[in-house]
Amino acid sequence: MKEIVISNFKMNMTDGQIVEYFSNISIKADKTLKKLVFCVPFTSLHFAEKYQNDLISFGAQNMHEEEFGSYTGEISANMIDEFGVKYVLLGHSERRKNFNETNEKINKKIKTALKHGMTAILCVGETLQQRKRNQTYEVLRLQIGSGLDEIYENELSNIIIAYEPIWAVGTGKVAENKDIEEASLLIKKIISEHYSVNAGNNLKIVYGGSVNSKNCKQIFKIKTISGVLIGGASLDSKEFEKIIC
Ligand code: PEP
Repeated sequence: MKEIVISNFKMNMTDGQIVEYFSNISIKADKTLKKLVFCVPFTSLHFAEKYQNDLISFGAQNMHEEEFGSYTGEISANMIDEFGVKYVLLGHSERRKNFNETNEKINKKIKTALKHGMTAILCVGETLQQRKRNQTYEVLRLQIGSGLDEIYENELSNIIIAYEPIWAVGTGKVAENKDIEEASLLIKKIISEHYSVNAGNNLKIVYGGSVNSKNCKQIFKIKTISGVLIGGASLDSKEFEKIIC
């Protein structure tokens, strides 16, 4: 489905370039699109005050789990919150890999995000090797089980799970519909077992990994996902416009 579209600008775009981006983009979303989230660099989160509305929200790409303290170079939930930012990407595979983020650390970050009334977008997904070894279910179960440890069922409305197979993120290799559908059903099963069948049915799942204007229509046909998370293709305003409109 095409209910939620989340962009991830990663470490791209200066504040000036984002001004240009928003002056170039025309957001004429169709009725199916309910939420469009721009996960921009921290330095541009202030745009939330200008552009947020019922459809458009801004999101941070990460944050620290502690409220404040001696964590040089880090960003706290309060700092993000001050701009009215209501979404935060947590556990992105690039952060797991490049910054050694563990499931335990991600779990703490999720708890902090929820405490601040934010929606946490928990990114999960297997490597190619894990997929070839049929370990996808185990990987997802560990990432979700530990990531959502001590998170209560009534808090799940503020959690989105982004299924992002690592072999598809930034590689140009998009997962096939049957694989996305299968993984999203596994995620729902994990949530159903952990909480309840209702929780599994109501969970919002998005797919991320090399989505672009050419393959998005095919992906939007998948009924077990609510939308997509887009990195590279969200950086070009005209390309992104084709995806959302
Ligand atoms: C991402 O950064 O989460 C992502 C899905 O990137 P890309 O669309 O470039 O694969």
